[in-house]
Amino acid sequence: MTSSDPQPIEQIGAGKRIGILTSGGDAQGMNAAVRAVVRTAVTLGAQVYAIYEGYQGMVDGGDGIRELSWEDVGSILHRGGTMIGTFRSKDFRERTGRKRAAANLLAHGIDRLVVIGGDGSLSGLDQFCAEWSELLAELVAEGEVTQATADAHPALMFAGLVGSIDNDLVGTDMTIGADTALHRIVDAIDALASTAASHQRSFVVEVMGRHCGYLGLMSAIAGGCDYVLIPEQPPADGWEQRMCTALKRGRQGGRRDSMVVVAEGACDQQGRPISADHVRQVIEDNLHEDARVTILGHVQRGGSPSAYDRWASTWLGYEAAVEVLTATPGTTGPVLGFRGNRVTRVPLVEAVAKTRQVPELIRTGDYEGAMDLRGGSFKEAARILAELVEPSRIDAREQSKRIGIIHAGGLAPGMNAAARAAVRLGISRGHTMLGIRNGFPGLRDGEVVELAWSDVESWLPEGGAELGVRRTVPSVDELYRISRSLEDHRVDALLMIGGWSGYEASEMLHRERDRFPTFGLPIVCVPASLDNNLPGSELAIGADTALNVITEAVDRIKTSGSAAKRAFVVETMGRYCGYLSLMGAMSTGAERVYLHEEGISLSALAADVDWLRQSFAAGRKLFLAIRNENANPLYTTDFLARLLEQESKGTFDVRQNILGHIQQGGAPTPFDRLLAVRLVSRALDIIGTELDAGTSNSYYLGLVQSKVSAQPLEAMMAEMDLHFHRPKDQWWLALRPVLNAVADAQL
Ligand code: ADP
Repeated sequence: MTSSDPQPIEQIGAGKRIGILTSGGDAQGMNAAVRAVVRTAVTLGAQVYAIYEGYQGMVDGGDGIRELSWEDVGSILHRGGTMIGTFRSKDFRERTGRKRAAANLLAHGIDRLVVIGGDGSLSGLDQFCAEWSELLAELVAEGEVTQATADAHPALMFAGLVGSIDNDLVGTDMTIGADTALHRIVDAIDALASTAASHQRSFVVEVMGRHCGYLGLMSAIAGGCDYVLIPEQPPADGWEQRMCTALKRGRQGGRRDSMVVVAEGACDQQGRPISADHVRQVIEDNLHEDARVTILGHVQRGGSPSAYDRWASTWLGYEAAVEVLTATPGTTGPVLGFRGNRVTRVPLVEAVAKTRQVPELIRTGDYEGAMDLRGGSFKEAARILAELVEPSRIDAREQSKRIGIIHAGGLAPGMNAAARAAVRLGISRGHTMLGIRNGFPGLRDGEVVELAWSDVESWLPEGGAELGVRRTVPSVDELYRISRSLEDHRVDALLMIGGWSGYEASEMLHRERDRFPTFGLPIVCVPASLDNNLPGSELAIGADTALNVITEAVDRIKTSGSAAKRAFVVETMGRYCGYLSLMGAMSTGAERVYLHEEGISLSALAADVDWLRQSFAAGRKLFLAIRNENANPLYTTDFLARLLEQESKGTFDVRQNILGHIQQGGAPTPFDRLLAVRLVSRALDIIGTELDAGTSNSYYLGLVQSKVSAQPLEAMMAEMDLHFHRPKDQWWLALRPVLNAVADAQL
């Protein structure tokens, strides 16, 4: 079940007390969730108590349970770990421990809990809830608690959030911490790849994941690795030889290094663990080359959370607070997770049971069943990886279809990852892949080259676009030359990976196919734009990278102001689309965000200035506003900064930062690389189907509710606000109430 969009805020928390705890393994993003729970609950009029060191704080009571204020959770959004501590509490596993825990909660009037932890912690919560009334009855009988107190708290109401870097909860797309862990791993693989390639070495990288291969599989794709061993796909006997053959083929295909990813829980079909060291030995013995092992270990748990782990955890924390505050005794609390960029409620018992079923299925040899529980995109990723690493060309040279890859629009990080995937997957599907340089002007001028498997070897981690990109939409006069060029290079299909002008150009070619028969070829558009303003996709390739750049830059900007009373006005890109600004505000803890979609009014600015003056007078040290570059043509970033400066009357300073082109640069994030691979694979599926059928239907692709969906190009214009070049319906605007609740905004 998917939740409706966040609810309007009212004082639903008055007179209610929430306890919050983090338990089990820590995960980056737990702090973001804690902050959001506390601030949302306070905004809704409730009191929040931190239970320190997981369930142990509840068992111990005393200082283990302390009220948290709005300010107590300031400056934690960017920190890894959990500020309220976590612990694996043995006492809570015992009934006597849980009875003490119930007594301690009642001593503070708490009967609503938000628990952030893994499946272990959530099972503990389930057990505690089930026993609650019995425990209370015993406490009354023992004289520890009065009957009136027990009657006032007939049930324990809760919401669970899954904090686990493994991304192992069945029924949700992502758990808190998994995206950041993937960042840590892929950064390490990128670093290893450069040294490995210099020495033509092999590396075996061990990543976390005792029962879940998510980190292993996704980092192997995002890191451009050759082979992966994960718990859900135990290899059959003889895997050592098969792996070595695959690595050798990769070298012959043009790779300078070999990279094998091993999940810590990888086993063979006999259940024998496969260690990274064993893999290294196999490589050395069979391939007679230098192999090294890197065990990433706890680095994967550490460091500052990624933008995703900040905004998604903030949203989850908001929903969890609303959930427990609106719960009534007798209702069963859910686990809240993410599914298709929406918060999903999953029944706790079912989610935990299914999660625990996976290792059981693996143990009994039902690997297909285990993969099924991991979900469609996990299975798809496993198939795609197998294809990506296969360099041998299927013998279809003469009849092979020729697919042109073209970028158009603004530059977006991840374009190279998408083009590389297109070349490798296209070749593995028997096509000849053509790179069209410099967008539609390049196509007009015949800048078309055949790309081989090895040509794209180094492209994956590179920002920029090796093929070149142009924003130009062809004029009517250029169509003839474009048509000639397509004919000269015998292009059978076009894969356009880019932004709005690429969509417009593709649609134009498709529309003109009656006048120019060469345009009667399948064209598929794949969204790549850091502005995230394209039709038919909740996310475009590049937007996650830009958001992470903004998040890191603003973290630094904020620390620069920590010694003074300072207000920052930061301007982000996005053209007329406020995605980067709103999500940037969610990820950096901004107090205000100014979007073109909402406009800026003088009265709102006046209210903000009044609030800000009072807030600094009351002790505030730092204020952050994020403004979309086109939020308002006259109320510019400079204007806002001057306005604040003038109105500060010297009580705080004001600085403005226009982040500019750093947002377009840098290595694409794991998410953008994975999105690129997934979308391109589907685009090639569609192109293959059209070519086989001899038809030329054309589409634009995208991610909708975590599934790849394709719409006919003809539908594109109707989806868009053509004046401001953004979709009419923008899902992320639903996060506005979440930001308001955690940002001290007037409601
Ligand atoms: P994770 O939550 O990361 O899976 P664990 O499995 O270690 O980590 O669980 C964390 C804590 O949750 C345990 O130390 C214990 O306090 C509590 N817990 C786990 N399972 C149970 C259970 N069946 N009954 C009571 N408490 C439990």
